[in-house]
Amino acid sequence: MLQPGDTIGILGGGQLGRMMALAAAKLGLKCHVFCPDPDSPAFAVTAYSTCANYEDYNALEQFAAQVSCVTYEFENIPAPTVEFLKGRLPVLPGDHVLKTSQDRLTEKTFFQSIGIPTAGFAEVNSAEELKAASQNLGLPALVKTRRFGYDGKGQVFLKPESDLDAAWATLGDLPAILEAFVPFEREISVITARNAQGQMASYDIAENVHRNQILHTTTIPANIPPHIAEEARMIGEKVANALDYVGVLAVELFLLPEGHDQRLVANEMAPRVHNSGHWTESACAVSQFEQHIRAVAGWPLGDTTRHSDCVMTNLIGEDISDWPNLAAEPRAAFHSYGKSETREGRKMGHINRISPKSNG
Ligand code: AMP
Repeated sequence: MLQPGDTIGILGGGQLGRMMALAAAKLGLKCHVFCPDPDSPAFAVTAYSTCANYEDYNALEQFAAQVSCVTYEFENIPAPTVEFLKGRLPVLPGDHVLKTSQDRLTEKTFFQSIGIPTAGFAEVNSAEELKAASQNLGLPALVKTRRFGYDGKGQVFLKPESDLDAAWATLGDLPAILEAFVPFEREISVITARNAQGQMASYDIAENVHRNQILHTTTIPANIPPHIAEEARMIGEKVANALDYVGVLAVELFLLPEGHDQRLVANEMAPRVHNSGHWTESACAVSQFEQHIRAVAGWPLGDTTRHSDCVMTNLIGEDISDWPNLAAEPRAAFHSYGKSETREGRKMGHINRISPKSNG
């Protein structure tokens, strides 16, 4: 168990790393953020930082010597970097988790192996295989690169009339999967924490709305019946247990109509704190960021009880320029990530608007 004053290493210096470092400071723990980008938002709030490439093994060696354990804020860390670090100190969540979640094919196969339904999918490695898989799965469907996709990047929506050769070329001839289009009613997510002792705690289920495939709002509670909320929680905890997971994870789920009922299909998991959990900062005693730090530090998990309803809205690109009004809003917590450059589609901050807790 880490003691107050000990240091946690964080790979990645974006807003998620920044909010983890802030949460750690609250518990009396220090952070050392390792990130290649000199303009990393997390550098401004952490006790120690290293600005170096993930392949810079001298810098990694020094970093490893200065921290008690390593965690991360994104899942696309190069495998050799994790391999190097795990030979020296605990990397949490473990590298088997990264291997599962870095690749959409491995991830979906894992979900199915533990009985969690997914959309129909097929591995595709060429335009010919894409055509054959489209015949089998049917269109509409989405073709997604197996690795490095986020916020809708690395994927193409295919309609029955789409030119499949052109779609394949757009993706850059990379290993991919074809995934059946899911006519979902809602998108929801479950945020679950697990520590090394197997203690688990999930937050209430949130409902997510995307715009241009980027998360726009998260609303809590989700507009779903209790049995669906319970099923979503069980999915999060099943994933955490199956991976012997340590830390916070998110599973994104599609809710589909089925006769008079509904059913859940898993989209993807994130082995880290997640944008759809930012609401926990304002509506729970212990936020997802603090929870993740507690889990990797070997501390008991904190209380996930929700005391308020909340709508989290991402501030994307120029949205942040309205900060004087956002900061003045009553019953709202405005959060800016301190990024020096505003770009279209870039997450610049968020605002949590809270209201008294309903029965949901
Ligand atoms: P992803 O990068 O896989 O999370 O996809 C980004 C967003 O695209 C999702 O949150 C959905 O809104 C949409 N999407 C992804 N996959 C599917 C699918 N199989 N069917 C329908 N919509 C999807």
